[in-house]
Amino acid sequence: MENCIFCKIAGGEIPAATLYEDEDFRVILDLGPASKGHALILPKVHAANIYELPDELAGKAMILAKKMACRMTEALKCDGFNIVQNNGETAGQTVFHFHMHLIPRYKGDGVGLSWTPGTLSEDEREEILAKMRA
Ligand code: 5GP
Ligand code: ZN
Repeated sequence: MENCIFCKIAGGEIPAATLYEDEDFRVILDLGPASKGHALILPKVHAANIYELPDELAGKAMILAKKMACRMTEALKCDGFNIVQNNGETAGQTVFHFHMHLIPRYKGDGVGLSWTPGTLSEDEREEILAKMRA
C-alpha cells in the first residue's frame, strides 16, 4: 500500500534494524522502545489490523512470535516477555499496518502494560454471553 511506512520497511524500501526476515515477515527493532530489545513483527503484505489479516498469516505470525520470544529471551537474558497487538485508535494503534509488539521484560523495568481490574456483574456476564451466542 502506498504511503504506508510499515509496508516500506517490511519491503526493504526504508532501512530498519532487522532481527529476522523470511518471505512473509520482517522483524525490526521499535524506534521508540518500551524496553531493551522491543521489536515489531511486520507482515510484508498490507493489512491494516487483525480484522483484515488473512488467517494463514495470522497463524504464521503467532508461530513466529513464539520463535522470536524464545530466541530473544535467550539472547537478551530478559526475565519475562509481553506480546502485544493493538487494533484501532481506541486500543492504542498508531500505525495502521498490522504488527505484533515483542517486548522483553526485565525485573523492575517499570514498563506499564497493566490495568485496574473491574468486576464482572451477573447482568454484564449474561449480556455478553447472549451477544456472543447470537
Ligand atoms: P502501535 O501504537 O501502532 O501499536 O505501535 C506502533 C509502534 O511503531 C510504536 O511502538 C512506535 O514506536 C513504532 N514505530 C513508529 N514508526 C516507526 C518507524 O518508522 N520505525 C520503527 N522501527 N518503529 C516505528
Ligand atoms: Zn502497510
